[in-house]
Amino acid sequence: MQFTTLVGNEALKNQLSQQQKRRGLSHGYLISGPQGSGKHTLATILVQAMLCKDQSEHTPCGVCSVCRKVLAGIHPDVTVVSGGDKAASVEQIRQVRADAYIRPNEGLRKIYLIEKADQLNQFAQNAMLKLLEEGPPYATFLLLAESAGGLLQTVRSRCEELMLTPVSRQQGIEWLCQKKAGISMEQASDALEQSYGWLGKAMQILELQKQETEWTVYEQWHGQARQLAELLCFGDELALFEETMKLEKQPKEALPQILGLTLQEIGQRLPGMEQKKRGLHAAKLVQQMQQALEQNVNPGQVAGWLCAGMFYTK
Ligand SMILES: [Zn+2]
Repeated sequence: MQFTTLVGNEALKNQLSQQQKRRGLSHGYLISGPQGSGKHTLATILVQAMLCKDQSEHTPCGVCSVCRKVLAGIHPDVTVVSGGDKAASVEQIRQVRADAYIRPNEGLRKIYLIEKADQLNQFAQNAMLKLLEEGPPYATFLLLAESAGGLLQTVRSRCEELMLTPVSRQQGIEWLCQKKAGISMEQASDALEQSYGWLGKAMQILELQKQETEWTVYEQWHGQARQLAELLCFGDELALFEETMKLEKQPKEALPQILGLTLQEIGQRLPGMEQKKRGLHAAKLVQQMQQALEQNVNPGQVAGWLCAGMFYTK
């Protein structure tokens, strides 16, 4: 079997590869691991391997129409059973039972992915047990759980347990640096440490950090726009000149954002201005600068024009 999207977990990969080669994949698996450990990644690989057109030891191919349907979540023989934020209800599990007796549409198996299986109540778990014991031979169940201990022993004993393990530092850093463009080895290493080696969790941490950085940058631009608008509307020439000099130091992609925000800020000041003419003139200037930027002028020119336009042209 191939596990291109699952990092680490060598023992588990070996176990499944051997099984696939010798007697084919099983009809009931319990995949456990905390949030961000790769439960869905592994489940997708398993489902693909069960249905892929290539049933050699290189399955799943990942590129055939079946593999692509599974990845996109649109394969008619694959059903996700979930209760949203919580586990499915006993009624939902009973519906699965009814559905399981309708033969597969395309493949040789009908696969049910049971989310948060460790949170199924006792009735639902008992219904699940019946399904595992008496379901039709083509029906296959993948139970996902944060902790296998949350399931009845009887249910557990009917499934093969696949417990995910954290990735090694080396593997994790390599993978994160490949997936997240622009991050440093230190950032990857920190995120891995904070997530105890669970890659999905580490990705989330990095994503949050990125959003925070973007927000800080935006706040800084907004502060600059506020100051610029204030000086355009009320300031003297020297103060405006000094402020516009700061624009030159900004990267080119920041200027359209700052000017857009400046325009908004001028708009907010206009109603309260005594010299409305000045406010309108400032707004017009900023709009001209926005157009100029689209023509590829450099930040230095824009800054100079803003200042000169405000005080020297009438
Ligand atoms: Zn395939």
